[in-house]
Amino acid sequence: GAQVQHRAATSSIQTQWTMAMERSYIMIKPDGVQRGLVGEIISRFEKRGYKLAAMKLKQADEDLLKEHYRDLASKPFFPKLMGYMLSGPVVCMCWEGKDVVAQGRKMLGATNPLESAPGTIRGDFSLDVGRNICHGSDSVDSGKRESELWFSPAEIVDNESALKDWIYE
Ligand code: ADP
Repeated sequence: GAQVQHRAATSSIQTQWTMAMERSYIMIKPDGVQRGLVGEIISRFEKRGYKLAAMKLKQADEDLLKEHYRDLASKPFFPKLMGYMLSGPVVCMCWEGKDVVAQGRKMLGATNPLESAPGTIRGDFSLDVGRNICHGSDSVDSGKRESELWFSPAEIVDNESALKDWIYE
């Protein structure tokens, strides 16, 4: 009896954990890398309780960025955005956890840094929309799409966090 109950409780925790899984593609843009904000940004996601599933430093190319920003192709600022994103390497990350897409956007702040609250990454470290330091997926679907665009399946690691029972009830 007790054994079975224990197993059932464990499996329900694991089910909750699996259901809580959501991925956001977070990318530190060339200005964030050059300004030495990589550790600071990683640290904020770590401390919040999110789990790193993939990470690399990469010089993006035009094709990849055109696919990433495909919804913005017709915007007047698109050529400037391409130049900005090609100006140096970016840090690509995939973060996992409860509500990470919406919370990640809150942690980043508004697109225009002047509208970002202090305490957010953009609100603490940037001033111009064309130098706004980091990217975060804007929906659960784009979190999946962007993670799969920037990372191969083998680069996304599915390890279990030793801290999960201290972060999730
Ligand atoms: P977000 O990155 O907050 O999701 P968007 O998807 O609307 O915002 O835009 C993508 C990126 O394009 C922004 O993060 C910013 O770097 C750049 N951008 C957006 N609007 C402008 C603008 N009006 N002028 C210059 N760059 C812009």
